[in-house]
Amino acid sequence: MSTPSLASGPQGPHALRPLLHTVLDALHDGTLARGGPLPAGGPHTVTTRIRDAIGDVLPDEGDPDALRRLVHTLAEGSADPAHPHCAAHLHCPPLAVATAADLAAATLNPSLDSWDQAPAASALEALVTQALAHQAGATDALVTTGGTEANHLALLLARESARTTHGTDIRLLHGANAHHSLPRAAWLLGLPDPVVVPAPAGTLDPAALDDALTTLPGPLLVAATAGTTDAGLIDPLPEIAARCRAHGARLHIDAAYGAGLLFSDRHRPKLAGLDAAHTITLDLHKLGWQPIAAGLLAVTHPGDLTALDQHADYLNADDDTEAGLPDLLSRSLRTSRRPDILKIAVTLKTLGRTGLGTLVDQVCEHAHTLAALVHDHPGFDLYDRPTISTVLFRPRDATDDAVAAVRRHLLTGGHAVLGRARLDDRLWLKATLLNPHLRPEDLTGLLRLVETHAEGNTPR
Ligand SMILES: *Cc1c(COP(=O)(O)O)cnc(C)c1O
Repeated sequence: MSTPSLASGPQGPHALRPLLHTVLDALHDGTLARGGPLPAGGPHTVTTRIRDAIGDVLPDEGDPDALRRLVHTLAEGSADPAHPHCAAHLHCPPLAVATAADLAAATLNPSLDSWDQAPAASALEALVTQALAHQAGATDALVTTGGTEANHLALLLARESARTTHGTDIRLLHGANAHHSLPRAAWLLGLPDPVVVPAPAGTLDPAALDDALTTLPGPLLVAATAGTTDAGLIDPLPEIAARCRAHGARLHIDAAYGAGLLFSDRHRPKLAGLDAAHTITLDLHKLGWQPIAAGLLAVTHPGDLTALDQHADYLNADDDTEAGLPDLLSRSLRTSRRPDILKIAVTLKTLGRTGLGTLVDQVCEHAHTLAALVHDHPGFDLYDRPTISTVLFRPRDATDDAVAAVRRHLLTGGHAVLGRARLDDRLWLKATLLNPHLRPEDLTGLLRLVETHAEGNTPR
């Protein structure tokens, strides 16, 4: 094999063009070969196909057909969030324009740990993070790999602020409905054991929060959720914010799912109170149609960010910073860092607020349609009308085991990808609708699939 071509530089596009044709053809063929929302046959079938496709992982001599073969096999074996019956998780179908931008990011490969590796990308990141922070009512934002890293950073900033102000560690209070990454971050940061506040109706109970804030010694950090992972519910943010203010507690809002509502005139009011938070988690690889990763942590007090100050002479020497080279190292816990901001910037600019808001409105509308279909169907129970785009339902009178079995049946048969959630002490099927292209008949089809597989699957 001759010396492999490089992606960037004047010859880069020339080298990439035929490879892109290969990739696009393999994506097309692999997707057709799959046929449905995910590969049929379950883990054994998929693993066998991958093993056959790759053979010797590191052969002595290279194989020029590897790109085509592996992309084809990956596409054939993927769960495709663009398929109307793939609706389990907060796993969105990325916009083509965002994916195309990500190709440019991968090609140019700027690294956001120093200006001399990312002159334009760092300037773009500064502008776009500011604009997104302002949308959320905050002043600045850090780019993260997603909600997990954003929640982790939020707790770190809270810990450092409390240590500076109170000389002691802060304690996290979170709802029983909160994302698992919050207590995990508290564990990782060596914080006191978090206090779990009841969320009997799926949202954090403000009265119970008030009791906890009254009895616990400070400093305290409350984490509320705008868009729960299981049910898409939004905690009563204004009430929670008022209680935090009254008790001098710090507030973090995990809006990994819900923040996308900011783009929609119709749904933005549901986020009232968001701007009261000290920190806000946003995740544009959910209700923002970005390829992973596209997370942000917005902060209202930029001074909090000094907790991340870090110096490495080769990346941000004081004399370089004084001479005007931006200090990027102190805006992340990572060192090398992808320019995830490019695809985000391209998407915001290409679609505009109206374009993104329309996508949000569409998926929320689909969720209402599905909920209405479930409600009117004698064979199903509906958990509740959707707040965002999540619908929980279950075959009427089914046991939890039967509900779990239907879901697995649909998965291993390659028919549909639905999630599961335990609420009200019962197991529900979860449809998280993030595909704006869905048609009503896709939703009736989805229910018909569940119905068929529930019938063939009833416990004796
Ligand atoms: C998805 C989610 C997270 C985690 O985000 P990742 O991007 O998967 O790390 C955190 N909080 C909530 C509420 C979420 O829905």
